[in-house]
Amino acid sequence: MTRSGDEYVRGLRDGRTVVLNGEQVADVTTHPAFAAGIRTVARLYDLAHDPANRELMTYPSPRDGRPINKSWLVPRTREDLAARRRAIKFWADASHGFLGRSPDHVASFFAAFAGSPEFYARGGQRFADNLLRFAAKAADEDLYLSYVIVHPTIDRAKPAHQQAEPYLYAGAAAERDNGIVIRGAQMLGTGSVMSDYIFVTVILPLRPGDEDYAISCVVPNGAPGLKLYPRRPYALGPTSVFDYPLSSRYDETDSLVVFDDVFVPWEDVFIYKNIELTAGQFSMTAAHVLGNTQSHIRSWAKLQFLVGLVKRCMDLSERSAASEILAQLGDLATRVSLVEGIILGAEAAAELDQFGVMRPKDSLLYASQVYQQAMYPVLLNQIRGLMGGNLIQLPATVEELRAPSSAADIERYVRWPRATGHERVKLLKLLWDAIGSEFGSRHLQYEMFYAGEPAAIHMREFRNFDWAAAEALVDRCLSSYDETSL
Ligand SMILES: Cc1cc2nc3c(=O)[nH]c(=O)nc-3n(C[C@H](O)[C@H](O)[C@H](O)COP(=O)(O)OP(=O)(O)OC[C@H]3O[C@@H](n4cnc5c(N)ncnc54)[C@H](O)[C@@H]3O)c2cc1C
Repeated sequence: MTRSGDEYVRGLRDGRTVVLNGEQVADVTTHPAFAAGIRTVARLYDLAHDPANRELMTYPSPRDGRPINKSWLVPRTREDLAARRRAIKFWADASHGFLGRSPDHVASFFAAFAGSPEFYARGGQRFADNLLRFAAKAADEDLYLSYVIVHPTIDRAKPAHQQAEPYLYAGAAAERDNGIVIRGAQMLGTGSVMSDYIFVTVILPLRPGDEDYAISCVVPNGAPGLKLYPRRPYALGPTSVFDYPLSSRYDETDSLVVFDDVFVPWEDVFIYKNIELTAGQFSMTAAHVLGNTQSHIRSWAKLQFLVGLVKRCMDLSERSAASEILAQLGDLATRVSLVEGIILGAEAAAELDQFGVMRPKDSLLYASQVYQQAMYPVLLNQIRGLMGGNLIQLPATVEELRAPSSAADIERYVRWPRATGHERVKLLKLLWDAIGSEFGSRHLQYEMFYAGEPAAIHMREFRNFDWAAAEALVDRCLSSYDETSL
């Protein structure tokens, strides 16, 4: 059943080990580095829990009929995909697309896993049973899962088992009757500080000899030996919410995750020492496509938000009267519409896969991924170009708007034809936080890399594109003439 925001927050008080500035954080829900971000996630839970949004955000649990979040729905029809899209977009709009790994992200991977138990049974029926049991628990208890599926960058030229020491990368270091022991580290757990469980596996290619690292399992955040090292939290820097409205409330955190001999009971293990299945869970099941469909819907919301902000600036400064500005706004809008179109197109062209899961069209999904990784930096540059020094000519803090000695100057000299000084400063501080602050800069890095390094995404597109259809057109043309043709 869906949880309220308060229930979600209470669940985070589980003794988890988060190390910040050399000290262990006693309670992430009250620590100033994390509390506001956690409240933002809690608001998403409240929205889904609200009876007014029940039809949009939930479906009846196949086990007890109680409402569960649509991100756990295994899509069997195109209408299921559309229903998932509407729910995901509603959450993404509520967070302006700035929570890359909101709870519906990893849930979307698990929806595809849960629809493909035959895949896990290839490693033994007990693993399929484990997967189905955990997916049902996660859906019914409305759990927030984050994931770490990439090895830390130590020596990428060598496979996991040839690193300078064994178990630098997270792997199964020991086996016991009742489970396995995980040792090593993974990058980069976005949202892991504020999730309930961490999904641990690897999406990078493994080589023969890497069997210890070919695992797939879940670990509760409070598990003994699990340590999180978050990067600098952006919520600690802002002078006020008004000055940094996003940094102060939407930092989802990214952490190095260290497994210091973490015990995982067999029930939470889905793949064990199986290189083929570890890779196949992402490519053979619909998981990677479904999870990244969530990412694209989230990104669509963010792009809409950004271009909406720029349009408002152009209107209030009365620059949108100029045709060259309108053309630039049209160019920005084109980028958003392309992303929307590919999401809807991949959904309309979806087909049932071998496990009976309705799978958005892979080649469209990966084309969008390639496009977005390259487009986001260009879009931010376009916005900077349109805004010029406006983004910098801002009072340092909201205090200049409050203090009588400075307020009149700000109102007089920092206004636009259609905006007071206060309105303009508020709008531009929001835009700067989105694209120029340390928070905005992290988002640039996120959009460029969250799905993997660009060459790997190009390869996914290469593998999924319909080359046969393309080459059939070539053959048709070649066979329409020969050296005797006139
Ligand atoms: C903000 C952020 C959040 C993230 N969140 C998560 C998360 O929640 N969970 C998770 O598991 N991972 C997460 N990641 C990790 C992400 O999946 C990886 O960053 C991504 O897979 C790329 O790996 P890498 O960073 O090691 O890049 P690298 O593989 O080191 O690549 C870096 C650059 O070097 C280039 N390059 C690499 N090798 C070569 C070569 N041999 N020749 C030429 N060029 C090369 C690449 O093309 C790329 O441009 C996150 C990353 C970021 C930035």
